[in-house]
Amino acid sequence: MSKSKKLIEISKPIIEKEEINAVVKVLKNRQLSQGPIVKNLEEIFARYCGTKYAVAVCNGTATLHCALHALKVTDQDQVITTPFTFVATANAILMERAKVVFSDIEEETFNLDPKKLESKITKRTKVIMPVDLFGHIYDVQQINSIAKRHHLSIVEDAAQSVAAEYKNKKAGNLAEVASFSLYATKNITSGVGGMLTTNSKEIMEKCKLFRHHGQDESKVYEYIEFGYNYRMMDMIAVIAIEQMKKIEDFTSKRRANAALFNEGLKDIQGLITPIEKPGYKHVYHQYTLRITPEFKLSRDKFIEKLADRGIMAKIFYPKPLHLYPHFLEMGYKKGDFPVAERLANEVVSIPVHPLVTPKQAEFIIQSIKKI
Ligand SMILES: *Cc1c(COP(=O)(O)O)cnc(C)c1O
Repeated sequence: MSKSKKLIEISKPIIEKEEINAVVKVLKNRQLSQGPIVKNLEEIFARYCGTKYAVAVCNGTATLHCALHALKVTDQDQVITTPFTFVATANAILMERAKVVFSDIEEETFNLDPKKLESKITKRTKVIMPVDLFGHIYDVQQINSIAKRHHLSIVEDAAQSVAAEYKNKKAGNLAEVASFSLYATKNITSGVGGMLTTNSKEIMEKCKLFRHHGQDESKVYEYIEFGYNYRMMDMIAVIAIEQMKKIEDFTSKRRANAALFNEGLKDIQGLITPIEKPGYKHVYHQYTLRITPEFKLSRDKFIEKLADRGIMAKIFYPKPLHLYPHFLEMGYKKGDFPVAERLANEVVSIPVHPLVTPKQAEFIIQSIKKI
């Protein structure tokens, strides 16, 4: 590859003059702590998701922790989630000392398989925590009805699915509580940050206490209960506010790139493109291919050959969570979740973010066809 050729990275935050100017203004006002801008972001975000409330938190992991705490999850409870996700999903359950109960995924969407889920429910199950992996919302119809039948709560880990939809309802407005992340690689970002959405006043109030040492919002130094320091700062919130203005543009660019890939990469032997189930709007946080044994090259070779052309493909995720030490210690073992284990060996994501131009998308398609 010639040195002059631009790398096509797997993700890249889009920070433009609007974000920079907004931060500078906040800094000049010395408005650093949690204040009116955070409140403003909460209103904008709730309105966008269609929920009554949104609560801004310092990061997406803390947001998940707040959600579980607000649902009064304790060390006596079990929370069911997917082993094929970023580790934060399951770690948040451990923060409340609850038991992590993994359940296998379906291969079409990489999300929790509702058919396997029900057998994991016990008397101690309190919450189901589906993840909208890569930007495709979980199986809302089936998982919500299972939860209802067993009187369980759902916490939607929507870290990767802001702006995604199911039957015209937005991610964040499908479960009792949802958790978003504003980390640097996510579809909108403030570098660091989390947003929680809910229609429950009680949950919203609990989360606001929990993020600020249990302090009553209206009475300084009145601590109603135990809490953490999980606040978001105004200088962070202001970046997210600018990003919210661009969310439709970002999302449509991701979807346009994905449409080009779907068309250009179909009918390649052994290569499986991601699907969008009927009724769902996928936001392609990642565009994730599967390299099956019928494909001409191994996955490692595939990644290497793309890298030679300046295309940075990446594996999300190389190992399902149950195979990491702190979950193995709990008694999980290889073979427990065969679909997640197989897919971890097949997946590879290619650059789909808004900075990938249609021309570059075409170059990615031609490169894959050639190799
Ligand atoms: C990014 C992410 C999180 C955690 O968000 P942070 O803001 O990095 O703490 C949680 N779950 C999933 C699925 C994620 O992708």
